[in-house]
Amino acid sequence: MVWKFSDRALALKSSTIREILKIIEQPDMISFAGGLPSSNTFPVEEIKQATDLIMSSDEAFSALQYGPTEGIAPLRKWLAEYLSSRDNTTITPNQIMIVTGSQQALDLIGKALINKGSKVLVETPTYLGGLQSFTQYEPEYISVDSDEKGLLVESLTDEIASQASFMYVIPNFQNPTGRRLPLERRQQLAEKAKRTNLILVEDDPYGELDYQGHRLAGLYTMAPDNTIYLGSFSKILAPGLRLGYIVANEVFIDKLVQLKQSADLHTPSLTQRIAYHVIKDGFLDRHIPKIRELYKSRCQFMLSCLARYMPENVVWSQPEGGMFIWLDLPTHINATELLSEAIQHKVAFVPGETFFANAPKMNCLRLAFVTVPEEKIEAGIQILAQLFKKHANTLEESPVII
Ligand code: PMP
Repeated sequence: MVWKFSDRALALKSSTIREILKIIEQPDMISFAGGLPSSNTFPVEEIKQATDLIMSSDEAFSALQYGPTEGIAPLRKWLAEYLSSRDNTTITPNQIMIVTGSQQALDLIGKALINKGSKVLVETPTYLGGLQSFTQYEPEYISVDSDEKGLLVESLTDEIASQASFMYVIPNFQNPTGRRLPLERRQQLAEKAKRTNLILVEDDPYGELDYQGHRLAGLYTMAPDNTIYLGSFSKILAPGLRLGYIVANEVFIDKLVQLKQSADLHTPSLTQRIAYHVIKDGFLDRHIPKIRELYKSRCQFMLSCLARYMPENVVWSQPEGGMFIWLDLPTHINATELLSEAIQHKVAFVPGETFFANAPKMNCLRLAFVTVPEEKIEAGIQILAQLFKKHANTLEESPVII
């Protein structure tokens, strides 16, 4: 059988992440590669109780029936109240659409806003899954300069900002670097967006995983008319529910509703109702601090191992929240090439190259720490440190060729 794939399907490359997910299934592998939340945090008992409650009442019929494309009313209302109070702003249910994971939001936004050749501004580096969603619609990516704290807003000219279809930003504990955009830069970016009519897509799946519980104001509170905000239940409840949400201007939500209809009609009624029953009486206020505590201690443990074992010429981020640490290696070390050697030693990571829209940097990588127990973190970091030392020395010992 010869498949007559569309040009769009043919253009897709096999994802490094998908390849890596196959590897981490091997039981003896120490994997710092997966971006998965810790399954120890999944509220299994609460989900079971909520499901029992739904299934033993008339709600079972609505939960198993088709539902509204924009999501079930009680969940949208709950979100509007939660976000308004958390972020000291005013959000109405009509500004909210429930999506099948925030990944679907990225796809729908691409569909709604990108024509072939449209300019899309991204961070350097940025979330691979965002690039995968947008790339289907053939944008021209413009990578905006960033440093260890995030976007360098002054490097973005008003001219480029006003030409772009939108800018994709992950201000909180970014995937892949773990960095958080400082408040002054958020204000600068919000001002620029207002001045140049730039739409900001603020992707915030990690915002609640702030180890100190000290949230910085979101872009959507600073430039509400310019910002499409994306939230997710994947890191605070469970990703298998496939529940995310979009907050935006009602005109934009109406357009997205049309686009979502052709994608999946609506997000499953059952998972929306389960999540609603779990969270409606303040569960997250008790649950999120426990996740933060676990992730903070894993992060601090990995940071202490890095400090103990890594050679001097390796540097890494110091996340204040989230699930990732970013490593910069000496410039001659290619992290993608090193991955197969690391896998032979039963350690996996994601090479940094995959997270760049343009001009990939080869000497960097992402480490995820939340699913790995401490003894394995220590063993894995020791193995990686040995590999980096070996490769650093190889260069020093090789003859100089003029
Ligand atoms: N955005 C970012 C930055 C992510 O890291 C992820 C998940 N890894 C997503 C979106 C998608 O999350 P979900 O679809 O599970 O809500």
